Amino acid sequence: MRGMRTLHLLAIAVLTLVTLAEIFPLMMLAHWQIAALCVFVVVLLGLIQQRTQELIATNQALKIEVDVRRKAEVELCLAANVYQNTTEAILVTDPLRIIESVNPAFTDITGYTQDEAVGHSITLLYSNHHDEAFYRQLHDELDTHGSWRGEMWSQRKNGSIYPEYVSINAIRDGDGVIRHFVRVFSDLSGIKRSEQQLQFIVHHDSLTGLPNRLLLKDRMRQAFSYALRFNQVVAVLFLGLDRFTMINEAVGRGVGDSILRDVGNRLLHCLRDEDSLARVGGDEFVIIATGLQHGGTANRIAQKLLLSLSEPFIVETDRYFLSASIGISLFPMDEGDEDGHLGKAEAAMRRAKDQGGNSHHFFTKEINAVSNKRMAIENGLRLALERNELFLHYQPQIHIITGRLVGVEALIRWKSPELGLVSPVNFIPIAEESDLIALIGDWVLRTACQQSVLWQEEGFAPIRMAVNLSARQFQNRDLPAKVRQVLQDTGLDPQYLELELTEGMFMRNVNEAVTTLQTLKDMNLYLSIDDFGTGYSSLSYLKRFPIHTLKIDRAFVRDIISDPDDAAITKTIISMAKNLNLHVVAEGVASPDQLEFLRSLGCDLVQGFLFSPPVSPEEISLFLEEDVVYRQEDSFAPKLHSGSGSVIVFPEH
Ligand code: C2E
Ligand code: MG
Ligand code: MG
Repeated sequence: MRGMRTLHLLAIAVLTLVTLAEIFPLMMLAHWQIAALCVFVVVLLGLIQQRTQELIATNQALKIEVDVRRKAEVELCLAANVYQNTTEAILVTDPLRIIESVNPAFTDITGYTQDEAVGHSITLLYSNHHDEAFYRQLHDELDTHGSWRGEMWSQRKNGSIYPEYVSINAIRDGDGVIRHFVRVFSDLSGIKRSEQQLQFIVHHDSLTGLPNRLLLKDRMRQAFSYALRFNQVVAVLFLGLDRFTMINEAVGRGVGDSILRDVGNRLLHCLRDEDSLARVGGDEFVIIATGLQHGGTANRIAQKLLLSLSEPFIVETDRYFLSASIGISLFPMDEGDEDGHLGKAEAAMRRAKDQGGNSHHFFTKEINAVSNKRMAIENGLRLALERNELFLHYQPQIHIITGRLVGVEALIRWKSPELGLVSPVNFIPIAEESDLIALIGDWVLRTACQQSVLWQEEGFAPIRMAVNLSARQFQNRDLPAKVRQVLQDTGLDPQYLELELTEGMFMRNVNEAVTTLQTLKDMNLYLSIDDFGTGYSSLSYLKRFPIHTLKIDRAFVRDIISDPDDAAITKTIISMAKNLNLHVVAEGVASPDQLEFLRSLGCDLVQGFLFSPPVSPEEISLFLEEDVVYRQEDSFAPKLHSGSGSVIVFPEH
């Protein structure tokens, strides 16, 4: 490269000489002068070229410098923009923690403007949430390591304390000496709030705000370990509202929800601060009573809880009566962990419910067996409809004077492949607690109506078909529409359908019950109150109910001859019914004496094993073939119908 340049210079010098020689003839100059001139020209040209090269290099360096500066300027501008607009607060202090600069986000979060903050110590933000040692440690860390990261609580200008996520970094000069600290932080209040809300939602029931099963179990764990240490007893009380689902179905969830909230409040009022109340299911609550000296105290607590629910619940203008059943498991007497105790208390609660509700029951081994059986029934029942395991039997109802078969009562039967023949007394209450009762109830109504029409089609004179309704069926607002539909589908005349209801169904909301009964009566149906005398019958209400018949419970009829009280009750019911223009049916008539006595009191109809147990439709056909089933003057020498071997009839005349 350099050789080329020298050649280049020499060529220029020779050319210059030739030119000069032409301008000044060579003879005018001496040789040395020409040589000197040549050297001079070469040197001059060399210098000019060198300078040109230098200028080019400087120009390039300058260009690079300009680029770098322009880039730096853009970056600075960007940084300033970020500094101004970021949602994170940025604060710069000197090495002594005196604030030098803050950004707008700092003002948004802390409330201090730039003017109010600059020149002040960083302690301006310190809160009493942390002690001195905390801040000292933080400063030490910064001085030694140059950075710190973490959550802390600081104080705003208005005095409120807020959580923040902070990152502090030291800025050092070329010699490694700390010149500034840059502190970047964000306000965590929103996140903490959401976190708390989330925690609350996860651990609480949204309707009542009470702890849910998750939190309850946590509290149980704590209560159990505390009780072990201090030799105390913990009672787990499982409370289930009796027949609460009916309220939801009858008057809608809104009213139901309002009652559930009230229930929660009432129960809370019965408890001490250290006890816990949780809602663990739709109508189920659990109470953890701690620090008891012995299990007996749980008795008193249960009574108090039940009493608190005995006052009516008022929603808008309506009054609703509720009761509950409570099952109790005791720690450490009953074995098991949290789930074990909840299961035992629940099983005991079911036992209390099965026994009529409004009571409490302690867990026993026997209850465990019952609870297992109950589960088997519920599971089996779910399949029973599909597998055609349900069927109806019919029990005759006979006019006490004419001896004619005037009606039959449809009674459900379940033949389970696993459990054998299960009594409705055992499975109807279980079905009532689930959605099963609606399916079963619909099936019974439809099947009974179809059967009634079938008998008429066989040529028999129409008789009344009595169908038992469950409480939940009665409370369902769709009942009249459902019955109408079944009558229409089967073609049964409504006057031949009787619905059997129980007193308990009316007491929850008397006004509503009267309206439903009136609707049913207007449809020309026949209405009766079953098991009369066993419920909390109120005679004053009875007058308001548009019904046709009272069915005296067989518990009174059974001892009507031997027990003067039962005789008196039966007598009173019959005379009262007469006054109210109601018919009376006596259930469970099993002996001629009872029949005689009932006739003397003016009872209208009788039903019982004396005439026939519930039997198959075919066996009822045999009764229908006889115009008169029983005559007053008959001697009671019952003979069995061929076929079933279970129907008792009376000799013909
Ligand atoms: P309930 O409606 O009071 O039915 C009368 C019960 O008394 C029947 O019991 C019947 O077999 C029995 N019984 C009749 N006469 C005598 C007698 O002389 N002596 C004795 N010891 N018992 C007699 P069952 O069939 O076991 O039904 C029991 C209860 O189950 C019924 O009482 C009723 O409350 C319920 N139930 C039966 N079928 C249905 C149904 O289809 N739907 C609903 N919701 N409940 C039903
Ligand atoms: Mg009945
Ligand atoms: Mg009955």
